[in-house]
Amino acid sequence: MKDVPILFKEKADCCGCSACYAICPKDAINMVEDNEGFEYPKIDEEKCIICYQCVKVCPFKDIKLS
Ligand code: SF4
Ligand code: SF4
Repeated sequence: MKDVPILFKEKADCCGCSACYAICPKDAINMVEDNEGFEYPKIDEEKCIICYQCVKVCPFKDIKLS
């Protein structure tokens, strides 16, 4: 059984494009503003069905699939 994906480890690994947010079939991703006003995706583990579409769509392909 895979785990809920980790979209990025550091903020530098995410450009905030929200492609993952847009593609998630379960609305499990919320874009959350940080204290500098940039939005980063946060996965709701309760809703996530671990389909990994968000990881596939992410332009930051150096993200490791765990
Ligand atoms: S793995 Fe699938 S369900 Fe979970 S956050 Fe990503 S796109 Fe949404
Ligand atoms: S698709 Fe990747 S770069 Fe774009 S917001 Fe999601 S995690 Fe960040």
